[in-house]
Amino acid sequence: MKTIGILGGMSAASTQIYYRELCDQTQKRLGGLHSPDLLIRSLDFARIEELQVQGEWEAAGGILNEEALALERGGADLLILATNTMHKLADRMMAGVGIPLVHIADATAEAIAKAGLKAPGLMATAFTMEQSFYTDRLVAAGLKPVIPDDADRAETHRVIYEELCKNVTTAESETAYIAIARRLMEAGADSLILGCTEVGMLLNQGNVPAPVFDTTLIHCTAALDSALA
Ligand code: GLU
Repeated sequence: MKTIGILGGMSAASTQIYYRELCDQTQKRLGGLHSPDLLIRSLDFARIEELQVQGEWEAAGGILNEEALALERGGADLLILATNTMHKLADRMMAGVGIPLVHIADATAEAIAKAGLKAPGLMATAFTMEQSFYTDRLVAAGLKPVIPDDADRAETHRVIYEELCKNVTTAESETAYIAIARRLMEAGADSLILGCTEVGMLLNQGNVPAPVFDTTLIHCTAALDSALA
């Protein structure tokens, strides 16, 4: 089994989900006492969020690059970046890194295409929904992402940073998220991407009336596929 380097802490709430999911999936696949071979680097998200808000993406990219190089030196055979948003900086992060990155958007697009679906709704941070670094990759895979309207994007983003990244879940936000998901279906979405690694804390196949693609879970499966190949 190869060693998966996880660059996480963005936020810590979802890195915990990655750890649990990677352990569960490894146990299911290999049985016995097997657990995944991991190196987890969990950053202080407050520092990263500050750089996001200030638009200091180059500085953030430098941090990710340093950390990716450190994970490689530490013995990782492959890397995952445990956040959709920070994939904006995936190329910068991987500069000079000799091990592969399992890209969260590519893994997600592949899962959707495999299911024969075409028009996924996308619930994510404003960065991920409004900039092109993420949706371009979905489009390149033949998909037509459906993005929430202004008010729904603002509410989706607010809940991520004010609640989910602090490990807070509320019934009100769950109701609001379900309503946003339904409006995406009304706007033509045939499925839903939980395009932020914390959104699965509120939405899942049990409360969304369309096939759900949880990027955190898909990313774990793709990383394990690589690690066990
Ligand atoms: N975890 C989130 C994501 O998947 C948001 C936090 C961040 O900005 O990294 O996009």
